[in-house]
Order: sequence, then structure tokens, then C-alpha cells
Amino acid sequence: MKTETKCLHSGYEPKNGEPRQLPVYQSTTFKYDSSDEMGKLFDLEASGYFYTRLQNPTNDAVAAKIAELEGGTAGMLTSSGQAANFFALFNICETGSHIVASSSIYGGTFNLLGVTMKKMGIDCTFVDQNLSEEELAKAFKPNTRAVFGETITNPTVSVLDIEKFARLAHSHGVPLIVDNTFATPINCHPIKWGADIVTHSTTKYMDGHAIGVGGAIVDSGNFDWSVYADKYPGLTTPDESYHGIVYTEKFGKLAYITKATSQLMRDLGSIQSPQNAFYLMNGLETLHIRMQRHCQNALAIAEYLSENEKVAWVDYPDLPNDKYNSLAKKYLPNGSCGVLAFGIKGGREKSIEFMDSLKLATIATHVADAKTCLLHPASHTHRQMTEEQLIEAGVAPDLIRLSVGLENVDDLIDDLKQAFEKI
Ligand SMILES: *Cc1c(COP(=O)(O)O)cnc(C)c1O
Repeated sequence: MKTETKCLHSGYEPKNGEPRQLPVYQSTTFKYDSSDEMGKLFDLEASGYFYTRLQNPTNDAVAAKIAELEGGTAGMLTSSGQAANFFALFNICETGSHIVASSSIYGGTFNLLGVTMKKMGIDCTFVDQNLSEEELAKAFKPNTRAVFGETITNPTVSVLDIEKFARLAHSHGVPLIVDNTFATPINCHPIKWGADIVTHSTTKYMDGHAIGVGGAIVDSGNFDWSVYADKYPGLTTPDESYHGIVYTEKFGKLAYITKATSQLMRDLGSIQSPQNAFYLMNGLETLHIRMQRHCQNALAIAEYLSENEKVAWVDYPDLPNDKYNSLAKKYLPNGSCGVLAFGIKGGREKSIEFMDSLKLATIATHVADAKTCLLHPASHTHRQMTEEQLIEAGVAPDLIRLSVGLENVDDLIDDLKQAFEKI
């Protein structure tokens, strides 16, 4: 099936007489006829459902759809994008491990890596993702266990050179994890370019209507953990909490997701509720149509802003003169996303005045949903960062992040026009 068809049909195929739409299995638990059958599930000797913290049929169907859309072997849902990135990394890192991450990532992930995981003894070196391979190689240490970046960074809309990062990760014997939230599998398949694990905040375009916080992890199944067994003992040595099973031996290409589900989810419990997974399933059915319109509208607005004399700069990878346009043409040939960043002449003060004058576009701590919204990262999402950290993350103090929705683009441009007239 092609991507568009997968959006509609992957993950859930009803049999004769079954519900056309995926049912919500709103049940914490599942019934068994014999004690022995249930025991086998706890030993990972049989597959089946027993408690929704570990697995639920609604969630599994949605995870399977996302895995198919990304071209991976297995996937899982998490309660949020934050949980997805934490689980994706913590599944292969422990105290004493080290991560190499792009510095231009989402503020929440920057804090997760730079503050909270640091407290767990997991160190992170942030790198400028545009450096040469030789320069980037200097960030690696003997205890490096993963490389992390975003296909299109939030909020600076920089495009990651995925092949370059995959080469770097693999030449150091570690996997590349790519957060594909902004591009979605409609516009980019990071696995095709060498990424080993893909994560999502499904809260954004996948849900698409700003109704449910959620996350997802997809494993390509391509990284051979057993080749680097000494680095990944969690996957390659016995798990005493499951009577000594070795994930790589027992589950092969499913080792990574099985461990994340049966061990991390069991112990940390960041599940997506089946009801939210159901909403997500409905969002995914129209993802291909919505992404196309988000990109069309965003390009029209980026062009309008580029020609506006009150605008200091515009960053949108699909603009021919954008510094990421050549990477966008390679990795995002059908369009990047609906998010763009721009600055207004007069800096921070004028930017805030402008934002407050908008009528249709609303100020919201959100991005990538059906309704146009915007945010000033330096005063909102990245407020905790010092001026120095802002610059390191490439977030200019005057940067406005505009998330272009699905409205008629002329209405959106009219709204921008009237706000410009007020400043
Ligand atoms: C929003 C976002 C996250 C965090 O996701 P939540 O669902 O808000 O927890 C992670 N990565 C990117 C790129 C995001 O945009």
C-alpha cells in the first residue's frame, strides 16, 4: 500500500461483521479461562493482553498503523511526545551513558536531555547540527549510546541532514533516533535515510485537531544490538525481572520495542489512554490530505511575509532562498510542514505588539494543528533558557513561530495584514 492508503487501512482490518471503525477497548484488564494461560503472558511466553498499562488492542492498532507509515517493524504509543523521547533513549541508556544531540531541538527535549536525564547520570553533548562530519565526530565518547535529532526542528524549522547523522552514529556503533513530529511520515521517512528509531509527539499533526496529548516510538529493526552487546546490556543480557530472558535472543528484530513495552512501560507506566489512541486513529486517517494543505498554506504565507517590508527575516525550508532548501528538496520533496519562523523589524517589542493584534491566528502553546496559532518562544516555550542557551538553540529573541492551519489562506493573510497595519 502507498502512504495515503496506509493512513486509512493500516493497523486495523476488521473481519466479517466486525466494527468498521476501530473500537475503543476501554478496559483496564482482560479475562482468561485458566491460570496457566495468564502465567504465560507474564513470562512473555505467549502474546496477549492482560493489563492496559502494558498493552491494549486499541493502542496496538494505532501503533501498528504508525509503524507501517514509517516503514518500521514495530511501534508503541506513549502518553506524550516527551515520554516517547524519554523511553526511546532510556531503553538503551543507563547511568554512565552519553548521548549526542542536536542543539536545535524542541525546548522540552532540550530540558529532558540537559537537566532531567543528567540527574539520572546520563550525560548529553549538544552539537550544532550543521557542522561537518569531522567536527561532529569530536562529540562522541566511548560511553556514547545514541544520537538524537529532529527531522525539522521545533521552533527553528532547520532541516536535519539525516544521512550525515546516520553515518556518524553508525560509524561510532550507536543508533540514530529521529523525532519526526513536524515532517510526519507523509513528508519524510527517516528510516529510509538511515535512522534506526523514529519518535513522534502525536499531539501535533498526527492528532491534528489539538485534542489529545500523545507520543509514539517506531523501531526500524535495522540496528543490530547484538553486534554491540557490551554497549546495550539491557537488550543483550538476561532480564532478571522476566526470569532471565534475553530480548535480542528471544525477540530478534522486535527486541527494542518489546523491552520498552514489557519493562519500561511496566515500571514507568506512561501509557496513552485508549480513548486518546482512538482520537489519534481518526486523525491519522486524514493526515495525508491535511499535510498537503498545511504545506500549501504555509508556503503562501512564507512568500507573503518574505515580501513584507516590516518583516526582518523568514525561515521556511520550502522557500527557494532558505538556507535549508537544498536539504528540504532532498528529504522533504513534497513539502516540509505548516510551521514557519519569522522576525519583525523592531525586535521583541514589535513582535509582541503584532501578535497581540492578530484576530484569527491565536496565541497558543501549541503547534501543528488545524487552526492557525502562534507563539513567541523566547517569552513562552523557551522562557527558562538563558540568552546564551537561546542563541545556542538558534532561537532568536524576536523569533515568532507561526503554525499555519487549514483555514482559507486569504483569510489568514488578511489577518496578518491588519496586524501589520497596527504596528
Ligand atoms: C511537542 C513536541 C514534543 C513533545 O511532545 P508532547 O506531546 O508535548 O509531550 C517533542 N518533540 C517535538 C518536535 C515537539 O514538537
